[in-house]
Amino acid sequence: METETKTVEKQTNCLGCNKPLKKLRRYYRNGKYYCTKKCWLKAISAKKGTEEGAQK
Ligand SMILES: [Zn+2]
Repeated sequence: METETKTVEKQTNCLGCNKPLKKLRRYYRNGKYYCTKKCWLKAISAKKGTEEGAQK
């Protein structure tokens, strides 16, 4: 019996702090949701950091 549960990647958590997103307080940027602008900045700065690290 196959009981494979497919996890649909529905974004419910903030990409900055990984906390569950609340409907009222969310910050939408580039197709992703964050809870605040701070979290968005955190997420993009973290991404930048890894990209720079990979280049060097
Ligand atoms: Zn957040």
